[in-house]
Amino acid sequence: MAADALLAQLDQVKQTGAGRWVARCPAHDDRSPTLSIRETEDGRTLVHCFAGCQTGEVLAAAGLTWSALYPPRNPHDHHTRKVPPVPYADALRCIAHEAWVVLVCAAQIERGGRPSDAEVSRLSTAVERITTACQITGTFR
Ligand SMILES: [Zn+2]
Repeated sequence: MAADALLAQLDQVKQTGAGRWVARCPAHDDRSPTLSIRETEDGRTLVHCFAGCQTGEVLAAAGLTWSALYPPRNPHDHHTRKVPPVPYADALRCIAHEAWVVLVCAAQIERGGRPSDAEVSRLSTAVERITTACQITGTFR
């Protein structure tokens, strides 16, 4: 579950419904559980302290970072998400190469007006490769 990492760090966790819990807030001297934890359908975790603590304070007090509130990018790389399957340097080299392809195509287009089908097709391949390189390194989902 998305909230597991956070719930594991909290005291007096009580489930109040599907994907909902209350617990003692670690960020203030909480006698009765005033921290509300809720999982959203898209796998995020919402945290609210009714005593007014900021979410960042709650996370810091629990020894967590904001990433604990967001789902892993892909359930299959849940355990390896900190280590990309391809070294960053390789992904950057790929992006640099594709950037040159884009530049060469752009120069040809500039000289000759309309791009050929082959150039357009190669440009979309470049965009695909750059996007893949970013995804592999977790730059965006
Ligand atoms: Zn609090």
